[in-house]
Amino acid sequence: MKDIYLSIVIPVYNEQESLNALSDRLMPVLEKLKKSYEVIYTNDGSKDNSLAILKALQKKYPKHVRVIDFSGNYGQHMAIMAAFAESRGEVVINLDADLQNPPEEIPKLLGKVEEGHDVVGSYRLERKDHAWRHWGSCFANKVRGAITDAQMSDQGCMFRAYTKPIVQQMVEGGENSTFIPVLAWRLAENPCEVGLRHDERSQGDSKYGIYELLRVAIDLATNFSLVPIHFFTFFGMIISGCSFLLVIYMFARRILIGPEAEGVFTLLAIIIFLISVAIMGIGIIGEYVGRTYQAICKRRYSIRQIIQDKSVSKE
Ligand code: UDP
Ligand code: MG
Repeated sequence: MKDIYLSIVIPVYNEQESLNALSDRLMPVLEKLKKSYEVIYTNDGSKDNSLAILKALQKKYPKHVRVIDFSGNYGQHMAIMAAFAESRGEVVINLDADLQNPPEEIPKLLGKVEEGHDVVGSYRLERKDHAWRHWGSCFANKVRGAITDAQMSDQGCMFRAYTKPIVQQMVEGGENSTFIPVLAWRLAENPCEVGLRHDERSQGDSKYGIYELLRVAIDLATNFSLVPIHFFTFFGMIISGCSFLLVIYMFARRILIGPEAEGVFTLLAIIIFLISVAIMGIGIIGEYVGRTYQAICKRRYSIRQIIQDKSVSKE
């Protein structure tokens, strides 16, 4: 079995405009390293021409390129996980297909791994995204920092390097958690971070609209800790304690002074507040129930085919 030093993992969802440009920049960088390498693309159920382009790239570089073809759209993190499971490299580096992560920065990540770090995180120097995304992710970062023990500066940047044992643990862990940077950070013994260039999206639009970003934020808050639900339980206990005292007070007042009519709106406000708290609680509980359901189902993604050289399949 041929040992592979470096695996590059790239999730692809409707990226027909950037794939060739990406490959033209990526392959020379990898050749220059003078190490054995493979590039694994996961086609995450693209509806455009991406699969055909990936097949052509695999034909062009049969010894280096492998393509995992999903039978549907399972999301960026699942696409990365599937490629992790297939990867053979001692070091695995993940980057986006839209050229926001310049392939020329790969040696920087690799250098850090060679210094002995098992997870090399990254933060985006001069992030090139809409300002609202920047603020949103700063906020999400703060929340995550407060409720998980992973202290990192930019969880949203997927351009990262991992050593084989870390990748294997993530794959074997079988966790449904979709947040690869945080997952890896918690497994790491000697992590570090580097600042990497971040470019504008070369073509097309971000695959993350407000809905997807909100999903990611909720995932992040509930995936790695029970702090949100604990917080809610404590909050609920305090509120119900206070409202119980209020009920006793109202009851005593009614007996001693007589019924009051003016306070109706105050009561209404309190009731609405309590109802909204209850709804929020149901939502949070729902998150955990949903997660349990997913864990029971276990099926994380389904692969239609893997397109690769025969020599790889034989190993
Ligand atoms: N992606 C994917 N599946 C999805 C959404 C995105 O594989 O359902 C890929 C996408 O093709 C790209 C990477 O994940 O390579 C990052 O996506 P995008 O650039 O849209 O995210 P952003 O940079 O805006 O955070
Ligand atoms: Mg992008």
